[in-house]
Amino acid sequence: MSFNQKGKPFPQPAVGSTQPFWRTEPHPLDDHQTPLPTETDILIIGGGYVGASAAYRLLVENKQKIPPRVTLVEARGLCSGATGRNGGHLRPDIYSATALFTERHGLEAAAEVVRFEISHLKLLEELVRKEKIDCELTFTRSYDMYLDEDQLKKAKAFYDLLVAQGFDFMDDVNYMAQSDTQKVRANIFAVDLLFDIDHKLPKTAHVRDAKGGFSFPTGHLWPYKLVTSLVNIAVSHGLDLQTHTPVSEISDTPTADGLWSVTTSRGVIKARKIIFATNAFTSALAPQYERAIVPCKGVCTQIAAAPGAPHQELPGTYAIRLGPNAYIYQITRNDGTIIAGGASHTFRDDTEQWYNNPDDGKLIDVGVDFFDGYMQRTFLGWADSGAEVKHVWTGVMGYSADSLPHVGSVPGKQGQFIAAGFNGHGMPVAFLSGKAAADMAQKSISFEETGLPRLFKTSEARLKPIYDDTR
Ligand SMILES: Cc1cc2nc3c(=O)[nH]c(=O)nc-3n(C[C@H](O)[C@H](O)[C@H](O)COP(=O)(O)OP(=O)(O)OC[C@H]3O[C@@H](n4cnc5c(N)ncnc54)[C@H](O)[C@@H]3O)c2cc1C
Repeated sequence: MSFNQKGKPFPQPAVGSTQPFWRTEPHPLDDHQTPLPTETDILIIGGGYVGASAAYRLLVENKQKIPPRVTLVEARGLCSGATGRNGGHLRPDIYSATALFTERHGLEAAAEVVRFEISHLKLLEELVRKEKIDCELTFTRSYDMYLDEDQLKKAKAFYDLLVAQGFDFMDDVNYMAQSDTQKVRANIFAVDLLFDIDHKLPKTAHVRDAKGGFSFPTGHLWPYKLVTSLVNIAVSHGLDLQTHTPVSEISDTPTADGLWSVTTSRGVIKARKIIFATNAFTSALAPQYERAIVPCKGVCTQIAAAPGAPHQELPGTYAIRLGPNAYIYQITRNDGTIIAGGASHTFRDDTEQWYNNPDDGKLIDVGVDFFDGYMQRTFLGWADSGAEVKHVWTGVMGYSADSLPHVGSVPGKQGQFIAAGFNGHGMPVAFLSGKAAADMAQKSISFEETGLPRLFKTSEARLKPIYDDTR
């Protein structure tokens, strides 16, 4: 297991890491290094989605006549952490975690988070178009399917509340009830078809045994390609990229002239500002986050039907809710292969395998088998597909104790900023969070001026969490 000498979670050495599908076409910058600088203005630690977003913001969007010296250090290859190992699902959460946030913080604060997440869809579309980034960004609908009646009832009750409040973001969220479809479509898959009752049109989700669910706009993409493209652009604007350069320590205090001393495997860098884009691994360098952000492993797969075998084309992406705490997320890539992950209910009791475990070099035993035959078991029209798991890998998520990310000034450490703790749900959250951390570091603006949801602000109080949602 990969902990540093102080017992804190550390990225697993590159050798031995499980190979995610997304990293099968390495970018020329994957192993990029130049001579290590001795001093920099802004040091970004972490070369994932947040690090890329921050670098792009600092050097491309916040263009200055005399740009700051910006260095990005990454422990392993570029985008080798959660971003290079995830499900590729760019799916805003509209009513799920929102229920929890509403209960704890009120509807207004929770709605801010929803709006923020939804805004990532348009923003990334514009970015990808502007920069001509080939990352297979695709927009479709997400089918959130419930196999458990009680769980569906609860979700529907909260959905009704949001609709009754008149939130504009509910306009395109459709409730789908299980209907007796036999009368209308007796010759097609008979039972288990779902009707979109709002439009009175069958929008079949093809999910076996679904009791109902919801559909709403979503996206999917190739995260590694997005991140490496953004970093490439930032490098062309002066970013100093240092991969395979793990940071082992940061001085407790800055020097009299405000420089933090950052020890890496290749030497010491003095940095005026630091941005922690270290997600799951944050507490190795900022131990005050030990209880607030816990590294937790997840499993993900690429599944393909046998060449030429018959199988039902799926209408969008999925969340398959098998019951409380039993959940699969899934996209169909443009080449027809499926990326599916989750299934943590199959290994949840074996805590050593996943909880406070930063080792993405090792598979999770129990979870792996679950995906054998998953498509055949779950979807109508896949029985003869011959679908098989082609790739399986693990990744480490930064679970936060209160289910919210930490963004802003690191309490008590002037010049240090953070955007981390994205809970297996970073794609519609972390991009703007990275930008916000960059703006705070570069322009000395307050958290409130960044426009981020108020609940994301990191604080002394959140470092002593009153909730523990990590288990
Ligand atoms: C299996 C899995 C599936 C997921 N599926 C989805 C999904 O479908 N949709 C979704 O929205 N989210 C998903 N997520 C979550 C999402 O991937 C993350 O929230 C997001 O990628 C976080 O980006 P990041 O830049 O903060 O972290 P990361 O991509 O983990 O980047 C952090 C980087 O910091 C580096 N680092 C850490 N410590 C040091 C150090 N001391 N020195 C130098 N470098 C260091 C790491 O090596 C790493 O590369 C999933 C995550 C996993 C693991």
